[in-house]
Amino acid sequence: MSKPLKYVLFDLDETLYPSQSGLMAAIGGLMSRFMEERLGMSPTEVPPLREHYYHVYGTTMRGLQIHHGIDPEDYLAYVHDIPLEDYIGPNDELDRVLAKIKIEKVVFTNASEDHACRVLRILGVERHFNRIIDVRATGYIGKPDPEAYRRALEILGAEGDECLIVDDRLRNLTPAKALGMITVLVDDGNAALRQNPSRDVDFVIGKVTEIGEVVWRLTLGRNGF
Ligand SMILES: [Mg+2]
Repeated sequence: MSKPLKYVLFDLDETLYPSQSGLMAAIGGLMSRFMEERLGMSPTEVPPLREHYYHVYGTTMRGLQIHHGIDPEDYLAYVHDIPLEDYIGPNDELDRVLAKIKIEKVVFTNASEDHACRVLRILGVERHFNRIIDVRATGYIGKPDPEAYRRALEILGAEGDECLIVDDRLRNLTPAKALGMITVLVDDGNAALRQNPSRDVDFVIGKVTEIGEVVWRLTLGRNGF
């Protein structure tokens, strides 16, 4: 490693809480409902279009902005209007692990800051994050668009190789790796991927609390803990 680590960038959804929580599926349901209610689409045309936008533009929101001129703030408020406590709860182990990591911890998410704050509060870990880089902060350009990462680095005043990034999506790590970041995939289900990690993934962990061990290994206990 050429430079000391300055930041650990954490994705939010399905990274800081388990993918089995069902929360993202519920948010996805609201994305579909938004397209039906606000844009008058039929239930059958929504799923293939969401899939298409996800692959071409990275997020449903970006596709809806480009092709339907939606107001991203209206969309973000709509899809995150959900009783989070029904899906996630406090994570004391994560709180302890984050407390040991002395490097600045940042949330880097395609969601809104408001949603991120609510999630962090319910998990009981908000005290560890002074900064949230949400999709608004990156000009409504989300991961995996390389521009989102460049804007995040600009906000932090950091170089790629000063950052460790943690995300549950392999495709979100590829652009990060290209910018020199150290990449950590949280894979709490896909065993096949763990056996054959991509070149773009430096570490694969089964749950987010294992990040403490990764930071310790990278810093050999020097500036990380
Ligand atoms: Mg995620």
